Amino acid sequence: MEASLTARDRVGIQDFVLLDAYTSESAFLDNLRKRFHENLIYTYIGTLLVSVNPYKDLDIYSKKQMDTYMGVNFFELPPHIYALADNVFRTMLSEFNNHFILISGESGAGKTEASKKILQFYAVSCPSTRLLNNIRDRLLLSNPVLEAFGNAKTLKNDNSSRFGKYMDIEFDHRGGAVGGHILSYLLEKSRVVHQNHGERNFHIFYQLVEGGEEELLRWLGLERNCKNYRYLVLQRDVLHLGNLKFEADARGYATVKNNQEMQWVSKLLGIPGQVLQQGLTHRKIEAKTEEVFSPFSVEHAVYARDALAKAIYGRTFNWLVNKINESLANQDSSRKTVIGLLDIYGFEVFSVNSFEQFCINYCNEKLQQLFIQLTLKSEQEEYELEGIEWEPVPYFNNKIICDLVEEKFRGIISLLDEECLRPGEATDLTFLEKMEEKIGGHPHFVTHKLGDKNTRKTLERGDFRLLHYAGEVTYCVISISTAFLTNNCISSALHKVMQHSKNGIIKHCFPSSEPDTKKRPETVVTQFKNSLVGLTEILMSKEPWYVRCIKPNEAKQPARFDDVLVRHQVKYLGLMEHLRVRRAGFAYRRKYEIFLQRYKALCPDTWPNWKGTPAEGVRCLIKHLGYKTDEYKFGRTKIFIRHPRTLFATEDAFQVC
Ligand code: ADP
Ligand code: MG
Repeated sequence: MEASLTARDRVGIQDFVLLDAYTSESAFLDNLRKRFHENLIYTYIGTLLVSVNPYKDLDIYSKKQMDTYMGVNFFELPPHIYALADNVFRTMLSEFNNHFILISGESGAGKTEASKKILQFYAVSCPSTRLLNNIRDRLLLSNPVLEAFGNAKTLKNDNSSRFGKYMDIEFDHRGGAVGGHILSYLLEKSRVVHQNHGERNFHIFYQLVEGGEEELLRWLGLERNCKNYRYLVLQRDVLHLGNLKFEADARGYATVKNNQEMQWVSKLLGIPGQVLQQGLTHRKIEAKTEEVFSPFSVEHAVYARDALAKAIYGRTFNWLVNKINESLANQDSSRKTVIGLLDIYGFEVFSVNSFEQFCINYCNEKLQQLFIQLTLKSEQEEYELEGIEWEPVPYFNNKIICDLVEEKFRGIISLLDEECLRPGEATDLTFLEKMEEKIGGHPHFVTHKLGDKNTRKTLERGDFRLLHYAGEVTYCVISISTAFLTNNCISSALHKVMQHSKNGIIKHCFPSSEPDTKKRPETVVTQFKNSLVGLTEILMSKEPWYVRCIKPNEAKQPARFDDVLVRHQVKYLGLMEHLRVRRAGFAYRRKYEIFLQRYKALCPDTWPNWKGTPAEGVRCLIKHLGYKTDEYKFGRTKIFIRHPRTLFATEDAFQVC
């Protein structure tokens, strides 16, 4: 007894649900810290997995470890990402339904690593044949390719994913991985032309310039030195395109200064130099009978150049994702089930928050809403529906914030869209005023003018603040409205120019069938909103599993556990709420019919056929098995079992018999 107490004191408890007596945040934190210092980075809250980034390599991901976790009951071994992966997999096979694993946490918390570990586990544990191995290898290899093009070094993470990723892995009825599909969300294109101090461009550029083969570099006309490329080194700062310089001619209009770079760009894009130059330095004005070209100032030309670079990169990235999807497509039309992996940017707060943070944080609000719908709310509703006595657990429902952002006609996105319809008239200030007028009374929206005494002090005139479920974020109106009002798009004239490309990929990326400008184009944020609606639909139809990743310190260092930082994450990841619902609730529930059908062999009275109602049969069965009275409850249609161990014991008895 003595010995086990000390061991428990030292390594903490592996499932928060079992944490004794109280569920305070401090006790939660103590347990997490204890385990972290023992290199026990995983802890459960029921079936939810909490993971703390160790920032060092642990010897827990070997083939041997994978074997250990394959096909073992979830709670029998120490918590592990493999246990979760295995449990999802086996539930999918036995119930033949679809699942998704939502991996969340802030930048650098370990989401992408977690998703890779899950994929690797499936690659090893799934049945293999030559054909299946082929798909398996492609699934695995898609990762480094996408990371090269979509990841970059940031202040928070040396290998930060700059896009959201959802990946479906498709399995046949025996559990063989037969295909996959990837959806990507909101690639941070602006990084191509500009990186903040201490950050870098996408990995692929450095890999190309520093590691590309001589012949390839020669063909591309590149030198083996990153310093030569503005987009790769300079603060304000595809590479030739970034080096294009403009100078003003006698009339103040932009002309290309370095013709050699221009020739390279034109050669590589497969577009005649003259045509490209015209596109970059002129705007097309549609007159009644003829096309008139009006020249750009140097500033405008630089803007057009950067917009083009972003457009090319973003579209090529999508092209790449499509190519990967083609190679992962499942040829077999027989029924299959899927496990979806969602590795998506966490909540972000910087000193200056712009358009990207607005989108990312909105996305996190949506995912929190999904979590509430699928877990907290549905859990409590089910107890009510089943007539189970139940003390409701209070939680903050963030629907009010989602509405603030996305509601039709009066949400922030709608207001921005409206402003986009008034080019020339709309400015960041009119946008701010419009928000103040329409949503000024909203409890989660603050500006300098509206703010109460406390918050106003720290708020600049040109900013607005949203009180997100995860904390306050102040957004810079200028950066948001600029991103919107300029719409981040290249001009239709430049688009037409790109269609002339002789380069197959570029031509493909700028199709001529694109809706023309007369129709109102969808703004970037509306597209994003729609893609999130799509994602929510995909996820809603599946059974959810969660991995919550926590970042232990800002310094990216091992063995450092910053209490304040972790406490904040515990709060906004909703872990305490989840724990309270879990503790108060029942881990397992089964329809009476199903439960009886599976376990009736364990009791002579129910075997082989029970004559009464299924509920009565289950009562009889449970009495025979000796369940303790506080371990289960009878609902209207289902039996509720408090702890998974009870069910596992029954399952084990069943296996033996
Ligand atoms: P996120 O995707 O949440 O931004 P990453 O998954 O890229 O974060 O993790 C950031 C870094 O932290 C990784 O590059 C790696 O160095 C380290 N890391 C994350 N998870 C683990 C782990 N389980 N074991 C060891 N190192 C890890
Ligand atoms: Mg990542």
